[in-house]
Amino acid sequence: MGPRPAFRAPGRAGDVVELLTNPELARVHPTGEHPERQERLAVLSGETVERLASEEQLSRVHTAAHLARLREIDGPTQLDADTIATETSWRAARLAAGIALEAVDRGGFALVRPPGHHALADRAMGFCLLNNVAIAARYAQSELRFERVAIVDFDVHHGNGTEAIFRGDDSVLFVSLHQWPFYPGTGGPGTSDETTLNLPLPAGTGDARYLAVFEEQVVPAVLGFAPDLVLASVGFDAHEADPLGGLGLTEAGFRQLGAICSTLAPRRAAVLEGGYNLATLPRLVAAVRAGFSSAPAV
Ligand SMILES: [Zn+2]
Repeated sequence: MGPRPAFRAPGRAGDVVELLTNPELARVHPTGEHPERQERLAVLSGETVERLASEEQLSRVHTAAHLARLREIDGPTQLDADTIATETSWRAARLAAGIALEAVDRGGFALVRPPGHHALADRAMGFCLLNNVAIAARYAQSELRFERVAIVDFDVHHGNGTEAIFRGDDSVLFVSLHQWPFYPGTGGPGTSDETTLNLPLPAGTGDARYLAVFEEQVVPAVLGFAPDLVLASVGFDAHEADPLGGLGLTEAGFRQLGAICSTLAPRRAAVLEGGYNLATLPRLVAAVRAGFSSAPAV
């Protein structure tokens, strides 16, 4: 294999966002009737990307012991109360992370599983094995020379893993809007700092309040940070019809979130986190993609 093609500098607001995935992710990492199941990707489509994150790329975020544990799984294994894995999970996780890297290269939207934002440096958690968005952020900084990265997480759950990985790192701004109190229990009032912005929202919060918080708090924080790249951790479990979440975002709300995110930095990319309603998932992906692809209203 030759060297990877040079970064093409796409991902500007107004560019059409490519959906990047791999049908293998609908076969590997079988989880049975678990909400985070193979069918989540079977209902989605996009361009097939064959790319595994390398050990070096993973090691920028995860400990050697965590990577070794995942690599050595040789049968059904319970990694935490909510997180199961099998012998194909290591491949699935590296493929998911690899597609997230490709999304950074191409300004795309990585449609992947398992999700990543609960995964900590040293352990799996909450359906997540490797922290895909964190690996993508470190890749952007280390290999593409982006200095400042903002991660905007609009999954219904607090992105505790991403927060912990970048806590105290002033080159990465982490923003999370999430239902609270709720799993995983972190991200409550008073937990923000200079480069962490946690915005806990009560159950039942709908588009109007959510988007007002986004405009009033997220937009000025991200613009003030002046990132070179914004990475969206997109969880569709904040949708009103999600079986796990209790927020009330609609399809139009997700489109609006994508549109606002595309105006926050010169470049943007997105990675799928949660979202467990198989009937709504395809059109919600399309809504965020349309929002991301819209030209900013300036
Ligand atoms: Zn979630």
